[in-house]
Amino acid sequence: MAITLDDLPIRDDLRGQTPYGAPQKHVRVQLNVNENTHPVPPEVAEDILASIGAALATVNRYPDREFTALRSSLASYLGHGLAPEHVWAANGSNEVIQQLLQAFGGPGRSVLGFPPTYSMHSIIASGTGTRWMPAQRDAEFGISPATAVAAVREHRPDLVFFCGPNNPTGTPLSLDTVAEAYDATDGIVMVDEAYAEFMPKDQPSALTLLPGRERLVVSRTMSKAFAFAGARVGYLAADPAVVDALRLVRLPYHLSALTQAAAVAALRHAPEMLRMVDDIVVQRDRMVRELGDMGFRPYETWSNFVLFGGVAEPRRVFEELLERDVIVRDLGIPEHLRVSAGTADETSAFLTAMREIDPVRVGA
Ligand code: PMP
Repeated sequence: MAITLDDLPIRDDLRGQTPYGAPQKHVRVQLNVNENTHPVPPEVAEDILASIGAALATVNRYPDREFTALRSSLASYLGHGLAPEHVWAANGSNEVIQQLLQAFGGPGRSVLGFPPTYSMHSIIASGTGTRWMPAQRDAEFGISPATAVAAVREHRPDLVFFCGPNNPTGTPLSLDTVAEAYDATDGIVMVDEAYAEFMPKDQPSALTLLPGRERLVVSRTMSKAFAFAGARVGYLAADPAVVDALRLVRLPYHLSALTQAAAVAALRHAPEMLRMVDDIVVQRDRMVRELGDMGFRPYETWSNFVLFGGVAEPRRVFEELLERDVIVRDLGIPEHLRVSAGTADETSAFLTAMREIDPVRVGA
């Protein structure tokens, strides 16, 4: 007879947990996991392929454990006076965050977060045996400095996780909130900036807060703006001492030679790789405008997706969109759905489908 995981001698704290579960469906218009829906430009793909080919010549050897070339490319890309020793990378920012919790969290330790936020923050906390302590946001999903400081004083966490712009709400994160929370704790403060490149260009990144704050960590990814989700490359910037801590928990050679080669080649072409960001922002703003015109309540967003409220039956709307070959995200937030900005055509397909379905607005 088939057994289930409950029949196994699994860790008690993992019993009853559910894994990360964004559905992976083959649908024409995929707007559910905040990917960049534009493929890598063919001339860049060719150069990446040549670099992977060159790396294959020595793939019988273990890769550079310190991924020196990649760290140096990432430091140049980030700017802000960062040097390679401030930078660390892994297979997606999920792994970066996991390493951070392995080094600074773990059994007996806790991390404070502000849901609704990126679901993997609490799942990685659970996987590393770190207690997840959720705190309240303000109205409209913001976090004022006072709210953050009060939560830090109340919970006394070992780590504080912010996400700016926040997934799934798109909400901007005030740097005052980060700075004041930092001053209120002796722990590690992480800002997950997976969507930083979609912020208004005149808005500062949390990278500007790094000098003099050796417990602050800014995490980034090549999955979103860089159109590189399938390659799995995430990274962080922090004090070199934080990077030293991560060396204690990473697996040796965790970044394959092929990944390193692909990422370095992609970073050589940063302007072409990022060319679609402006267009994505245009499509995002179009979604906000048109969803508003339809009578829904889209939230302010600085990322490549839109959370909108006022949907009377989100599950039914999700299913009916799926029937029209469009997939969005039902996060289980009552009366809300989230949709990623697509190409102009994909965005049109979503908006047309919404008009066809004509979902009931709450309060209408
Ligand atoms: N942080 C946030 C806020 C995200 O939304 C995501 C992906 N959805 C990630 C991190 C993880 O991205 P990756 O592991 O692909 O770098």
